[in-house]
Amino acid sequence: MKIHIIGGGVIGLCSAWYLAQEGHEITVIDKTDLSDGTSHGNAGMVVPSHFVPLATPGVIAKGIRWMFDKRSPFFVKPRLNRELLQWIWQFYKACTPEMVDRAIPSLKHLNEWSRDLYREFATNPAFDFDLENKGLLMLYKDKKTAREEIEVAEKAHEMGLEAQLLSPTEVQQLETGVKVDVLGGVYYPEDDHLYPNTFMQQLVKELNGLGVKFKTGKSVVDINTSNGKVEKLLLSNGQTVPVEHLVLAGGSWSAQLLKKAGVKILLQDGKGYSMTYTSPTNRPSIPTILTEAKVAVTPMGSDLRIGGTLEISNFSEKIHKYRLEGILNSMPRYYPELTLPALDQKSVWQGYRPCTPDGLPYIGKSRKLKNLVVATGHAMMGMSMGPGTGKLVAQIMQDQPLGMEIDLFKVDRF
Ligand SMILES: Cc1cc2nc3c(=O)[nH]c(=O)nc-3n(C[C@H](O)[C@H](O)[C@H](O)COP(=O)(O)OP(=O)(O)OC[C@H]3O[C@@H](n4cnc5c(N)ncnc54)[C@H](O)[C@@H]3O)c2cc1C
Repeated sequence: MKIHIIGGGVIGLCSAWYLAQEGHEITVIDKTDLSDGTSHGNAGMVVPSHFVPLATPGVIAKGIRWMFDKRSPFFVKPRLNRELLQWIWQFYKACTPEMVDRAIPSLKHLNEWSRDLYREFATNPAFDFDLENKGLLMLYKDKKTAREEIEVAEKAHEMGLEAQLLSPTEVQQLETGVKVDVLGGVYYPEDDHLYPNTFMQQLVKELNGLGVKFKTGKSVVDINTSNGKVEKLLLSNGQTVPVEHLVLAGGSWSAQLLKKAGVKILLQDGKGYSMTYTSPTNRPSIPTILTEAKVAVTPMGSDLRIGGTLEISNFSEKIHKYRLEGILNSMPRYYPELTLPALDQKSVWQGYRPCTPDGLPYIGKSRKLKNLVVATGHAMMGMSMGPGTGKLVAQIMQDQPLGMEIDLFKVDRF
């Protein structure tokens, strides 16, 4: 098959990888040069433990409180926009225990499958992307958060995932890198982490070796359809690209792209920031979420990356000084003796998580266009779920039996 893929993030490239293995002729189109993007500067956590979607009971009340705190980890840029209002309404409808319970098995399955596929990548001598199995620590400082995290840990047990409840002393025994000041934590030993920038670079190199073609630095500005099929793409340099089969993996930009083809999905950009410290003298040794602050802390190779904040920003490129402070100020509260060098604003990275209202990705064929497969909407777990999604895309395109049930990921569900 001759297949075009829009988007060279982790989802597009993993799809290219599994399709190229089957001998298909692949072209990846991306508006960037693929040296940086949301799939590069993220926190690199591969997290079967993250089986609970963003939309949960209680999250709206918390979100509203956070909206009034300029250093909080969540913000929606207020604007009167139909898609945003529809997204908020569907998000609200997804915040029920029934919807959460419905989503959990699929998220867990896709995350676990992907983690195993990353471990498979790591056995390939062409790949060395600092994949490590050190687990994930969820640290908390207050009683309310402790109750919430313990409830998730109980759910994890029910789902067959190992989760250990740790006292402050036990946390410190596990975290040997720095002093920790917390009320306790939950440890998920089955989670992995990796250096996303390295994985993405190596994937591009290996895909080139497999004969995958890249059209980079060119945006897809229009998608022409006829007779229920995508017919051609129009690129920003005026080039027209005829299409036999199309995978759309445009991350947060996917809704805008699909609109051009007459397909509607609800998707918002969840902007976040990260800072990477090169070989700091001391650092936490276990990937960790500082739960009250919603900050991710990941030792990557010899570096340390911290990241956080979710702003529904409408692709704003402005770096919010106060939200950045919110991330940085949380560090000494959990790690009182950790001193990190000051970074200037230029070294702050930002990326856009493709967020669906119900916290489930869109993976599958569109009902409207027979030669189109959509793969997007992985929000804060796109790195984690990349390989499993890529494998699903390859199976869908080749009409093979699927590695998992994907009914909940339907593209036309809203
Ligand atoms: C601060 C932060 C921390 C995170 N931490 C984690 C983590 O620890 N674990 C985890 O699993 N996930 C994490 N994520 C989420 C993860 O990074 C994303 O879910 C994932 O990268 C999305 O991948 P993608 O391929 O769908 O999108 P992207 O990586 O955004 O790729 C989409 C591509 O499409 C291209 N594109 C868009 N429009 C066009 C167009 N018109 N023409 C041509 N090309 C186009 C873009 O240039 C881009 O390269 C984090 C995100 C952030 C922001």
